[in-house]
Amino acid sequence: MKVVFHTDNIDQTFYRQMIHVYLGELGLANPDTFKRWKKVVKSWTIHIYPASDWDGIDGRSGNTGTLNPMIPHGVTGEGIVKCYVIDVDDKGLTSLQNFSAILHEVAHMYLIGVMRGIRGTFRNNDLSGNKKGSQANVSTQEVHDRQMEGKMYQIKAHINVGSWWNRKWVRYSCIAIDFRDFLRVN
Ligand SMILES: [Zn+2]
Repeated sequence: MKVVFHTDNIDQTFYRQMIHVYLGELGLANPDTFKRWKKVVKSWTIHIYPASDWDGIDGRSGNTGTLNPMIPHGVTGEGIVKCYVIDVDDKGLTSLQNFSAILHEVAHMYLIGVMRGIRGTFRNNDLSGNKKGSQANVSTQEVHDRQMEGKMYQIKAHINVGSWWNRKWVRYSCIAIDFRDFLRVN
């Protein structure tokens, strides 16, 4: 899996680390799914763009169901994830918002990778216009149902940040969708 940055200001090492921390959390929930994930991981690329690059016509609006270009969001297609974030160097609330968009797409990516073709039934109306009771791939349905149900948890990480001439370890935590009970039984 490659992470390609089209941004100027965000700390790329920090963002890479948090993506890997979440993927590790997903893997810990069920090592069998992680083995499957490792087989498909090579083919995926995550692109991170500044929110101002959003052209407004890129298919689904992943995270928030809104086309407001200044809100972090993303889209996930076959082999490709595009995230649009607020491009500031920040280890606080802005990154927290950015990660809520990025990790939402990472969740889609992971479930596409490990549960290809498996269908599920929406438990809620979601923000992308899907209706309760309708069917979709679980890679969409389970992510959006959990988002609507507020099944989130805090990911805590010890990350290496700074510039190459002045790096240090700091604690950081962000919020991501919790799949631990779901992945354990699938
Ligand atoms: Zn989504």
